[in-house]
Amino acid sequence: MVKVTLAQEAAIGAEEPVEEFAARAAAFLEANLPPRTARATFVWGEGEDTGVKLWEEPDSDEERTRMADSRAWRRKRFDAGFGWIDGPVDQGGAGLTKEHLRTYRRLEAQYQTPSDTYFKLDKILSPVIRKYGQEAIADSIPRALYRGELMACELFSEPDAGSDLFSARAKAVPTDGGWLLNGQKVWTSDAHLADIGVVFCRTSSVPGKEAFSAFLLDMKQPGVTVVPLRQMTGGAAFNEVYLDDAFVPDANLLGKVGQGWEVTREILALERAGIGAGLNRSGSGLANGTRLTALVKAMHAQDEPLIRQELIKTISAFWAAKQLTTRGSDKVGASAYKSDPTPLISKLALSNNLRRASDLVGKVLGPKATADNGEWGTYSWNSLLLGEPGVHIFAGTDEIVRNSIAEKVLGLPRD
Ligand SMILES: Cc1cc2nc3c(=O)[nH]c(=O)nc-3n(C[C@H](O)[C@H](O)[C@H](O)COP(=O)(O)OP(=O)(O)OC[C@H]3O[C@@H](n4cnc5c(N)ncnc54)[C@H](O)[C@@H]3O)c2cc1C
Repeated sequence: MVKVTLAQEAAIGAEEPVEEFAARAAAFLEANLPPRTARATFVWGEGEDTGVKLWEEPDSDEERTRMADSRAWRRKRFDAGFGWIDGPVDQGGAGLTKEHLRTYRRLEAQYQTPSDTYFKLDKILSPVIRKYGQEAIADSIPRALYRGELMACELFSEPDAGSDLFSARAKAVPTDGGWLLNGQKVWTSDAHLADIGVVFCRTSSVPGKEAFSAFLLDMKQPGVTVVPLRQMTGGAAFNEVYLDDAFVPDANLLGKVGQGWEVTREILALERAGIGAGLNRSGSGLANGTRLTALVKAMHAQDEPLIRQELIKTISAFWAAKQLTTRGSDKVGASAYKSDPTPLISKLALSNNLRRASDLVGKVLGPKATADNGEWGTYSWNSLLLGEPGVHIFAGTDEIVRNSIAEKVLGLPRD
């Protein structure tokens, strides 16, 4: 099969006028989803006191239910032609443009959809798998990710290799028809649920980036043991993953042997862009200031000059980041970022803004943030205060992101 470039794809499928597409999408959404009302009418003291959750950490029964709902919705949406709007027709996509996609997203945002969190890697891994995967997986895996048939995770970090992935020790050695993987990965988000994972492994002992390769791993096979890690938020969404002679067929090598760093770097770049876009635009009432303003008023802190000043600075910073990430997210799915600063700055903006918001909440709540006195909208902010530190770490720590901006964007000498 002749591979179509991403630029060529943009030109395909532009035939359906956006207005006609929008009418079709609106009818589909109307017929299948309840309209979203709760977010638009956030009122302090009303509804469930869930706080601002940065991570989804339900118990396992709820997790199973949510995943099943999410899978069912994905299947329905995909089969109606709205699941992979800008994807190529020969791989199951609708072959339409980014403008159609944006239109659909705007419309879908007006409805209550099942949580998308478990399948969020579809947009991140699919372009990379299509670019680096061999024909069989490049043609089948993205469709399965978008349709919710497969859920994925990323196995990069190890106990002694996080920022410095070149210290990774997990090894892949050739065997009959493929590779045998051995080693330990850690902090693997959602590995306990995932069907497949992209794994970064050493395939040679030569120094430097050519020593590593990336593979698509079947997470449900013997030889893959997933052990949950509980973090300070109380949830256990991360895992250690032990690989003991886990088999990967040759067909699941991504790129060439020795190209693992390039593959991983592209995934991380797309991930950063997606993170900034997703969370900065979240409807939790944090990014748009609704909830923070309501908190300040409810705690009678609205007349304190320093709190007012911080509140305005925080809301302005979220607003600026939203503009940036809306622009940046338009490019997610295009060829990975080599020198575009948008994803790096989006990630950093998100970290900074959440820290700012978290500090403000801590100041306004004082001891109410640390002990549950039953008062609505106080202790529940814990999910933000305890979850926020993780944002400074995942998909590249703040320091690593700043280094990348210095070196790759500004062209400063290597650290
Ligand atoms: C919420 C969350 C989800 C995650 N999900 C995944 C996942 O799904 N898959 C996965 O593989 N990993 C995942 N991780 C792991 C994450 O990628 C690593 O924690 C991260 O890369 C940092 O690595 P480390 O923890 O080993 O810290 P280290 O790399 O040891 O860093 C420790 C400190 O040193 C600083 N530092 C390190 N190197 C430099 C440098 N060169 N210059 C300046 N400062 C430096 C860091 O900024 C940091 O402050 C997740 C982590 C979190 C918090």
